[in-house]
Amino acid sequence: MRTYTLLPCPWCKSPAKLDQDCNAGWYVSCSFVRCPVLPISADYKFAHMAAMAWNCCGQSDRLPALMPAPTEKHGSSN
Ligand SMILES: [Zn+2]
Repeated sequence: MRTYTLLPCPWCKSPAKLDQDCNAGWYVSCSFVRCPVLPISADYKFAHMAAMAWNCCGQSDRLPALMPAPTEKHGSSN
């Protein structure tokens, strides 16, 4: 697996970790279990997107077109 440079947690300065959830979505979270905030990113389809989103913390104007993978819509939107 590729490794990505992740900024440390903005609150506790612990290393962040990239992980996959049960739906195979990628997210970044603080690795320190006693972190006062335990930030966790949204789920992304690709690992690099989760890493980019995490690293853009507090700089939303720099966020590229990164949106969490939209949930599959079945049927009409009505
Ligand atoms: Zn933390």
